[in-house]
Amino acid sequence: MEYRRLGKTDLQISLLGLGGFHLLEIELKEVRKIVDRYLEAGGNYFETARSYGDGVSERKLSEALPKDGVIVASKTGGRDEESSRSDLLATLKALGRDHIDVLFLHAVTKSGDWEAITSPNGALKTVEWAKSEGLVRYAGITSHGYGGTLLKALKEYPFDLFMTQMNYYDRFNFPEIETKVIPFSVCNNIGIIAMKALADGYLWKGVEDAFRYTMTLPVSCIVSGINTLEQLEEDLALIEKRPFTAAELDHLFAEAPELGNYICRQCMKCLPCPEGINIPGFFLAEGRYDRQMLDGKIISAADYALRDRLAHWFGSEEQGIAEYKSLVPGVDSCNDCGICVERCPYGIDIPRKLRIARSKITEGYVW
Ligand code: SF4
Repeated sequence: MEYRRLGKTDLQISLLGLGGFHLLEIELKEVRKIVDRYLEAGGNYFETARSYGDGVSERKLSEALPKDGVIVASKTGGRDEESSRSDLLATLKALGRDHIDVLFLHAVTKSGDWEAITSPNGALKTVEWAKSEGLVRYAGITSHGYGGTLLKALKEYPFDLFMTQMNYYDRFNFPEIETKVIPFSVCNNIGIIAMKALADGYLWKGVEDAFRYTMTLPVSCIVSGINTLEQLEEDLALIEKRPFTAAELDHLFAEAPELGNYICRQCMKCLPCPEGINIPGFFLAEGRYDRQMLDGKIISAADYALRDRLAHWFGSEEQGIAEYKSLVPGVDSCNDCGICVERCPYGIDIPRKLRIARSKITEGYVW
């Protein structure tokens, strides 16, 4: 197992981290087996959250974890001082520990979340108090989907680490994670933990590519949700693979079936539009809105159900709507000239996709 320094902390963290959510789904004896095998393989990072089964994940972990030699992180979704403090105290009790290594402020995605957290009675007060009392060693923040609020938070408070989605599908829906959040964090020595390398299971057909892609980013750890020993063995093998080269990344972006001829790669090659339409901007808004999941093509019932479930998983729809409305001229200005289609290297039927984006965001997905 490879270990990496976690930003400005003094932690050497294993490249594969064990996520706590999926431990909810299995019996305690299976949790023990998974934890034991993960430790045997050199894993040292365990992550859970107060909200995972209202403490059930924390309690299961407490039964399986050794007292020393591991890094333990949990999360509070509390936005105010009182609820976040109460969460933390419940977490410590459930985990049976007098302190944890990392307390994450959980799912800080909307600007209102950050405003509440930084208000006079906000959850940052709990973070400061917990660090001063020795209940928590490091302060972290997690976010899902749109990364603008995460970036603002990292600029306004000296977090030690953050965690958000990093995969070769959502890089095109939330590119600011790679173009802004990660560079800022690297420059400021903020620890980077990746989650959702498989895009919530959407990349199940290409797990090796998915792991290798996320390993290509400057992350200290990739957290994986694991609920069987077989899955753990698979992940332990995948974490040994090598990152992609630049040429291999280009090939992945061109050939990955989940990207196909629908997902906009934000390459800008379709521009300029003769009508002045910001084509990639509309597709970015669509990505925020539903992760470009629904494409109006015939797919299997199972695939449709998976996409339908994942489309609004991150809750970044408001951002998508705001960005869509800010773009002038609008989609209605498209006159189907087809010039952009000839320029797009990925074969995207741009006029059709523009109409789909408009229908999703303004008409309830009817076109
Ligand atoms: S050329 Fe195609 S992939 Fe590139 S920005 Fe335009 S629509 Fe997106």
